[in-house]
Amino acid sequence: MASVSIRNIRKFYGQVETLKDLSVDIDDGEFVILVGPSGCGKSTLLRMIAGLERTNAGEIRIDDTIVNELPPKARDIAMVFQNYALYPHMTVSKNMSFSLRLAGLPKAEIDRKVDAAAQILGLHELLDRLPKQLSGGQRQRVAMGRAIVRDPKVFLFDEPLSNLDAKLRVQMRSEIKDLHRRLGSTIIYVTHDQIEAMTMADKIVVMHAGLIEQIGSPLELYDRPKTRFVAGFIGSPSMNFIEGTLTKSGFRTAEGLLLPVVARDLPAKDVPASYGIRPEHLTLADSGIPATVEQVEPTGAETHVILKLGGQQIVGAFRERLSLGYGDQVFIVPDIEKVHLFETSGRRIN
Ligand code: ADP
Ligand code: MG
Repeated sequence: MASVSIRNIRKFYGQVETLKDLSVDIDDGEFVILVGPSGCGKSTLLRMIAGLERTNAGEIRIDDTIVNELPPKARDIAMVFQNYALYPHMTVSKNMSFSLRLAGLPKAEIDRKVDAAAQILGLHELLDRLPKQLSGGQRQRVAMGRAIVRDPKVFLFDEPLSNLDAKLRVQMRSEIKDLHRRLGSTIIYVTHDQIEAMTMADKIVVMHAGLIEQIGSPLELYDRPKTRFVAGFIGSPSMNFIEGTLTKSGFRTAEGLLLPVVARDLPAKDVPASYGIRPEHLTLADSGIPATVEQVEPTGAETHVILKLGGQQIVGAFRERLSLGYGDQVFIVPDIEKVHLFETSGRRIN
């Protein structure tokens, strides 16, 4: 196990700055998830920690060692890729023991390590099979087994569940979380899926266009997003944003509706802003802000209602079943303690 410290890392591909001065501290034993949209630089950062990619500036430490100049095999890390990268002509057992045989470990020790990993992952019945004789989830488990036998200081995962169907993904999520609990190892895990990040991580690093937007626990990011990007990225259905002006008397939408704001958020003078409210923080009432129903989506547990508020479209998520239809007039009330206000730059106000 080990801590990982990333200091002022930058990466250029030609003229393009792909990573722009990133710093993150990862504690010993922590499960950290790098999350962000496709192309934001997650894999590049992970590959730098692995030593598969050079840095143009900055420092990466594993425990107290600066590893920038160390080759991958000297860094004591193990990486699990999206496509598993299993050797097709080797059995599960041989796939798992490959790196140990390469390192010249005694056979008894190799057998002991493979056995222990197979035990943890429930792979004993599969040890003599070839990868093509395994399901997607089983292949994923073998790929993790191959990492576990090496007993690395740090595990790196790059979108390991992306090739699995939805049901298996949910199951593997809890398996990986359980694995982390039992091994107590440091894990750095990349995904574009915010639900994966929210459900598994101790700490989430939200990346966007080569920058870190925010670092925090899942609920810190949900409760107090620092930027409009994080606010919109974390949570499902996504936060609503209504455009307008924050004034002394409340938030005035572009169409002139007045939305309530807590007194401490009221400014001395008008500022253009976005009013952020999550769908689950709206309620229907007999009076409030007038809105028109555009669509109703029953999910079973909840009813999602797409509404027109002035000229702007928003979504409400309600726990009850509703008999509403297109064109119905309703009143909505936001929970004002849960309103998030953002400057036009995207920065949170207060
Ligand atoms: P993510 O994993 O978040 O989807 P990547 O780290 O793979 O993003 O890529 C970040 C950006 O860097 C992308 O715009 C990608 O096109 C670019 N990029 C990645 N690898 C290379 C490379 N070897 N050469 C040039 N550009 C690259
Ligand atoms: Mg990637």
